Amino acid sequence: RHGMPRPVHRRLLTVANQKGGVGKTTSTVNLAAALAMHGVRVLVIDLDPQGNASTALGVEHRLGTPSVYEVLLGEIRLAEAAVESTASPNLLCVPATIDLAGAEIELVSMVAREQRLKQALTPDALDELDVDYVLIDCPPSLGLLTVNALVAADEVLIPIQCEYYALEGLGQLLSNIDLVRAHLNTDLHVSTILLTMYDGRTKLADQVTTEVRTHFGPTVLRTVIPRSVKVSEAPGYSQTVLAYDPGSRGAMSYVDAAREIAERGASGRIRTDGR
Ligand code: ADP
Ligand code: MG
Repeated sequence: RHGMPRPVHRRLLTVANQKGGVGKTTSTVNLAAALAMHGVRVLVIDLDPQGNASTALGVEHRLGTPSVYEVLLGEIRLAEAAVESTASPNLLCVPATIDLAGAEIELVSMVAREQRLKQALTPDALDELDVDYVLIDCPPSLGLLTVNALVAADEVLIPIQCEYYALEGLGQLLSNIDLVRAHLNTDLHVSTILLTMYDGRTKLADQVTTEVRTHFGPTVLRTVIPRSVKVSEAPGYSQTVLAYDPGSRGAMSYVDAAREIAERGASGRIRTDGR
């Protein structure tokens, strides 16, 4: 396997979609592992109180573990919460504990409530961890935690499930992204759309794929993630599918998707200048 290109500038991607169960966490951890296994240094920030990304990356997230919650409160530095994942070398994770469930409410009365994560993700803090990519796994809502992720990142990666109602709610997500760009983060843009849980046996999956590609054009990765039992089994073993079954179609599709992301760069466009 070839290495993946390290970005010239560090890339921060928020993985967002307010629908639950569309593959945000699965995509975050497997893309992160695919990049890391190919020599790129990656930090995953688990911003969902469920802590599913922490689990999949083999990272402790019991109550009392230093986590993203204390980072948002400004009680600890990012590096104090970041731990090495067992999933791959070059892969770090800031876990989420159940404490984070209260943060959505607690943040409301805080100073700079939308900027707490950004304030923690300073260039110095990320230099200290020496990471090329930061991937932020969002909860299934458009609340303050997701807003914090959108303010802290430059890029948004939207996973879309190849299912009924795939595009429902997407307009609301896109208008929230527009609002954040207008008021809080001028750099924010949707760089990447990833089609997940594609079932080639159904006509519907193809219809959704066509519809999404028509709507969003080249922002949509060519690689589509198939529905695969291996992908859904892996978290039960606190593993990514890349470790659980590296030869499976699910694992290979995440490697392909990661390579596309790495090769396209932050604009979400395929480079035509040969660089
Ligand atoms: P979200 O983070 O958006 O809520 P998850 O990544 O947790 O979604 O995925 C929801 C469920 O679907 C999980 O049980 C996960 O294991 C399963 N899943 C995700 N991607 C796939 C896939 N490609 N094939 C089969 N199951 C998948
Ligand atoms: Mg999730």
